[in-house]
Amino acid sequence: MATKTNGEIDYAKSDSAIGLNWYAIDPNLSKLMDRYVPPADRDWAEGILQRWGELCGGPVAERAEIIDKNPPILDRYDRWGDEIASVVHHPAAIDQKRDIWDEGPIGVAARDDREVPTVLNSAFTYLLSQSDTGMVCSTGMTGGVEGLVDRYAPPDVREQVLPRLQSPTYDGSWDGAMFMTEVRGGSDLAASEATAKQVNGKWVVNGAKWFCSNVDARAIATLARPEGAEAGLRGLALFLVPGERSDGTRNGIHIKRLKDKLGTRSVPTAEIELIDAEAHIMSNPKATESEARGLNRMMGMVNGSRMGVATMGLGIMRRSFVESAIYAANRMAFGKRLDQLPLVQETLVNMIVAVEAVSAIVFEAASLASGRGDEEGRRLYRILIPLTKFKGARGGLELASQAVEMHGGNGYIETFPAARQLRDAQCHTIWEGTENIICLDVLRAMGKESAHDALLNRVDAALSAVSHPSLSPMKDAVAQARREAHEIIAFTARADNDVRQLNSRRVTTALSDLSQAALLLEAAQGELDASGDARKAAVARFFIRERLGGTGALRGISDDRSVLDLFEAITRYQPLAPEKLPAAV
Ligand SMILES: Cc1cc2nc3c(=O)[nH]c(=O)nc-3n(C[C@H](O)[C@H](O)[C@H](O)COP(=O)(O)OP(=O)(O)OC[C@H]3O[C@@H](n4cnc5c(N)ncnc54)[C@H](O)[C@@H]3O)c2cc1C
Repeated sequence: MATKTNGEIDYAKSDSAIGLNWYAIDPNLSKLMDRYVPPADRDWAEGILQRWGELCGGPVAERAEIIDKNPPILDRYDRWGDEIASVVHHPAAIDQKRDIWDEGPIGVAARDDREVPTVLNSAFTYLLSQSDTGMVCSTGMTGGVEGLVDRYAPPDVREQVLPRLQSPTYDGSWDGAMFMTEVRGGSDLAASEATAKQVNGKWVVNGAKWFCSNVDARAIATLARPEGAEAGLRGLALFLVPGERSDGTRNGIHIKRLKDKLGTRSVPTAEIELIDAEAHIMSNPKATESEARGLNRMMGMVNGSRMGVATMGLGIMRRSFVESAIYAANRMAFGKRLDQLPLVQETLVNMIVAVEAVSAIVFEAASLASGRGDEEGRRLYRILIPLTKFKGARGGLELASQAVEMHGGNGYIETFPAARQLRDAQCHTIWEGTENIICLDVLRAMGKESAHDALLNRVDAALSAVSHPSLSPMKDAVAQARREAHEIIAFTARADNDVRQLNSRRVTTALSDLSQAALLLEAAQGELDASGDARKAAVARFFIRERLGGTGALRGISDDRSVLDLFEAITRYQPLAPEKLPAAV
């Protein structure tokens, strides 16, 4: 078996996160893998993650900086002046894709002839996002389109396209993309204006799409309204638009321009016009129910992408912590290392606690992604998707901003690592549904599917596993939050629509905090059982104190100095004796 991750970490020994094995320095990830990867796959997964952690922390991270400064460009005409509108990537981006394809989940699954468990897939995403979150967009889209083609494409199309999307090597592979947003809006898809009609027995799609990431993909999922279909969401059908027509000529996908983006510059995002683009329908436009399913089917992909974005945000949270810890261990101020100053210690503890709290719900959700076969699991996954997207995306932005500040003025400068993370992180709160839309989706999951019941049952299961005396005050605090969640749910059910929407962010915050707290406590109990280590209990305590603690002007003002006493144990993953935990939350 490859070396397991267990090391205590000395951030002063490095001056950059680049060059480290990002899996080997992340014992929390290793423990999550112990918890969620099926035992028969765990040793296999260990070797893969060691390799992937080395790649992501090494060449992939180095190239990400080069690609950010040399983003894709649009080559509009060939030398004869004919329009080609071809996207040209820097050679580093091609090397990047090749490594990601060949060494990532697709290559590994093909090489080892083994299915990659969903949590391992999420670990791939988490590590890759720490170096190049834009590239995760292209791999994520490809995986999403693969799922749609697999389930819904006509058999001959499936046979032709699927092997390309699942190609075990980069050479010969096709990327996927998803074009939904139009100039009039991305949240309100009912307003979509793209149309579809049948010409000589073939579908063609016309219309403009306003945000098209991974635009040079060869297999594009899009929404369009078949002629005569009703207005609104129900009239939208799902289409696959290939890069080439069936006669081998270029399809009618006209790139108008590439967006000049704040971040995620490694993936090209474009405005495009579909002009008589040949397409394959992936739902039946004649039957009303099937038309409605066009959007539903696309939403299946969007839900997968939302999980992906949550994990991408989590990756940025982690990178932001590691870069901050390294900088603070090396930089001096007032005659001390930054990480010996109380406020800096508190910031670093808060950052790592936030990383572990979000990772608790992200990997719990990932473990449900392929379905555990019961309705309760489906509903739990349903509500965890928006909760994780909410927390991961916002957490990435918040921690990237803190990392910039931890680096002082240098943080604001592009030659240091934090600035790009902050630019990239902002995208995650927007794409695949803005934060508002995500909060409304939580209400939808509650109202239509009572998904909160599955969440509360999961919280109860976690709490019932907690028995160690040192966890008792925390368990009481979470149980109290669990009771309050009942009141929140009852309030949500009786409030009028405007008031319900007004409160949706608070409801989302409360439910996500509750589930993070319960899962952290469950993990804390697991670590106490396994090795007597109370480090995770300390993480859970800080989270619960911060997120479920009291309100009012005096909140948090006390002579408690536990953050200073436990700083080393928490940030450097040192084992902690249960007696060292403060008695009260
Ligand atoms: C870098 C990048 C890449 C992208 N790539 C793709 C892609 O590949 N494919 C694709 O289809 N799309 C893509 N998008 C588009 C993205 O999904 C949309 O920007 C997003 O869904 C929001 O839509 P919008 O920009 O039209 O904003 P709008 O829908 O106009 O929203 C504007 C504001 O209004 C708020 N709002 C809207 N409706 C409500 C409501 N009911 N209640 C409360 N607030 C509301 C939103 O939260 C937001 O703050 C990308 C976006 C970015 C930034």
